[in-house]
Amino acid sequence: MASRHRSHQPPVAINRRLQACREGIRLKGLDALLVTNRVDQFYLTEFDGEDGAALVLPSRVCLLTDGRFAEEAGKKTPWATVVVRTGSLKDALASLTRRYRIRKLGVQPEHMTVADLGTFRKAVAPTKLRPLPRIVSSLRLRKDETETAAIREAIRIAETAFRTVIRRMRLGMTERDIAAELVFEMTRLGASGASFPTIVAEGPNSSLPHAKPGDRRIRVGSAVLIDWGAIAGGYCSDLTRVVFIRRIPPRFRRMYESVLAAQLEAIRAVAPGVRMCDVDARARRRLTKAGMGRRFTHGLGHGLGLDIHEAPRLARRVTDRLEPGIVVTVEPGVYFPGIGGVRIEDDVLVTEAGATVLTSLPKDLDAMVVRAGR
Ligand code: ZN
Ligand code: ZN
Repeated sequence: MASRHRSHQPPVAINRRLQACREGIRLKGLDALLVTNRVDQFYLTEFDGEDGAALVLPSRVCLLTDGRFAEEAGKKTPWATVVVRTGSLKDALASLTRRYRIRKLGVQPEHMTVADLGTFRKAVAPTKLRPLPRIVSSLRLRKDETETAAIREAIRIAETAFRTVIRRMRLGMTERDIAAELVFEMTRLGASGASFPTIVAEGPNSSLPHAKPGDRRIRVGSAVLIDWGAIAGGYCSDLTRVVFIRRIPPRFRRMYESVLAAQLEAIRAVAPGVRMCDVDARARRRLTKAGMGRRFTHGLGHGLGLDIHEAPRLARRVTDRLEPGIVVTVEPGVYFPGIGGVRIEDDVLVTEAGATVLTSLPKDLDAMVVRAGR
C-alpha cells in the first residue's frame, strides 16, 4: 500500500460539502465516515473511479482505490490522500483505522452488503463500525450552484437533441430508431450518455410507464411518448413529451389536456415549505375530477441530480417539506391498457421565492403535432 499526501485545498464547493458531512459525523460522536456509495464519493471528492471508497476524517480525506485508477485519482483530487491498495479493501481500511486512530467509524448501511459489513467489522477491530444512514443523501438534497448549472446543461442538451430528432422524424421510423437518434444527438452535444434507457412508445405501447423501444413504426395518427434525458458533468436531466404524427387521435385529446392541466397545477404548488404529498395531491385531484384518477398509477415526481431517481419523492403519504435547492420532476401520467398513455414531465428547481421550471420545451397540445415526412 502506497500513499501520497495532499498538496492543495479542495475546491470551494467540495470543501463546503465535506464540512457539512464532518458536522454530521461529529454530531453522532464518530471519528470518521467510510463512503462506499460511488455517487456519494463523487459528490464529496469529484473522483469517480469504479473501485474504492472514501474515508472522511476531520482534517483529511483518504481515497482508497486500486492501481487502475491511481493516476486519475491523483489528478482529480490532488488535495486528498490517495491510498492505492495492493491487497483487499478490508486490509487497507484496517491499516488506515490504526494509522489515524479511528475508534468509531460510521458506515453507509444502505450502501454496504451484509457480507462486507461482517468482513470489515472483523478486519478493523477494535475499531467499532456504526451505521450512519442517509448522511450524504441528505446533503445531496439541496443542490448548490455548481450542481444546478450542470443540471441546466443536461437539460439544454436533452432539449436540443429532441428538437433535432423531431425535425428529422419520418413515417415508418421505429421506436428504436428514434431512441437511438436521441442518444446519438445527446452524445454529440456533449452528454456523457443518456441518464436512463430512453423510452419511445408508439400507440398502445405508451400505456406501459416503462416501455422498451421496439420495432413499432410511426404512422399518421400515431401518439408517441418519449421519456429521455442526458448526463452532463455527472448530473441528469429527465423529460417526457408525447407527440402526435400529423393529427391528434380523438381519445388522446382529453387525456392530454387533463394531464397537462394537472401538471401545470402541480407545478404552481411547488414552493419551499410545501409538503411533498400536497403537490402530488394537486395533480391527483385534477385527474380525479376528469375521471382519470385511477389511471394515474405512480407518484408525481422524484428528485433529480447525480442519480436519475434520488430523494425526495413527490408522492402520497410523503409529508416532508420542499426546501430551496431541491430539484424535482413533475410528471403526472394516465395509462389506458390497449389504447395508450400520456405523461408530461418537466424539471423544477425550488427557490427561496417559489420555483423555477428549468425545462422549456413547448407542451401545448397544438405544439405537439409533428409534420413527419415520408
Ligand atoms: Zn422521465
Ligand atoms: Zn422521471
